[in-house]
Amino acid sequence: MKIIFLGTGTSQGVPMIAHPSGGCDLKNPKNWRTRCSVHIEMGGVHIQIDAAPEFRMQCIQNQIEALDLFVLTHAHADHVMGMDDLRRFCDLNGGSAIPVYSTTNGLLRIQAIFPYAINDKPVSIGYPAFQLNEMPKVLETKGGKMESTLLPHGSIDVLGLVFTEKESGKRIAYFTDCKAITEEAYALSEGIDLLVIDGLRPNVHPTHMTINEAVACAERIGAKQTLLTHMTYFVDYEETNADLPESISLAYDGLVLNL
Ligand SMILES: [Zn+2]
Ligand SMILES: [Zn+2]
Repeated sequence: MKIIFLGTGTSQGVPMIAHPSGGCDLKNPKNWRTRCSVHIEMGGVHIQIDAAPEFRMQCIQNQIEALDLFVLTHAHADHVMGMDDLRRFCDLNGGSAIPVYSTTNGLLRIQAIFPYAINDKPVSIGYPAFQLNEMPKVLETKGGKMESTLLPHGSIDVLGLVFTEKESGKRIAYFTDCKAITEEAYALSEGIDLLVIDGLRPNVHPTHMTINEAVACAERIGAKQTLLTHMTYFVDYEETNADLPESISLAYDGLVLNL
């Protein structure tokens, strides 16, 4: 199983408009953060989680050249606005629609933003097409299964996802954009190899976890390795990492892990 961190930032990104550095040392490339998204390869199946506004450039920089299905954790702009760029993968898949999975709310927002793409096939060559599906509790693919649960994120719920690769048995939990981990999510993530979890910033936020809140959840889950994601512009990579427990660190754009 392989996970590629395409983006690890918040809506503002780093550098931020009109206040480039925030609290980050921009000489360190690990502090340059595009909006949050990951690409997972599970038993040969290419799964894209969210499409940031920078999705096209993220694909080019990380050599993402195949995509079998797309999961939208929730339809906030930093996760949904790159979906038009899925058009290239419709082409590469022989002019067919990309299977898209999300919550009820996520699917409604996709239909509102991209009405021209809700089709069984692209309306003409080069157009995107999305085949919309409610995310089930368990989605089986030929490479393994994806389990889902809802996590609280202010006025909406976000899909929390747990991936289990068939051949290796390796497991990854991806819990972005959440204020808390539910008991169901704790149960699903028992025995996982890698946890990826929202760790926005040091001070309290109404809809995201702080770094300390994320660390507390990570310690309860007890994954072999934990990576924090969705960091805001004043979380410096080196400074913050130095204070984290040994199995926990910050993710960064372009990080690739093979499990
Ligand atoms: Zn969000
Ligand atoms: Zn977000």
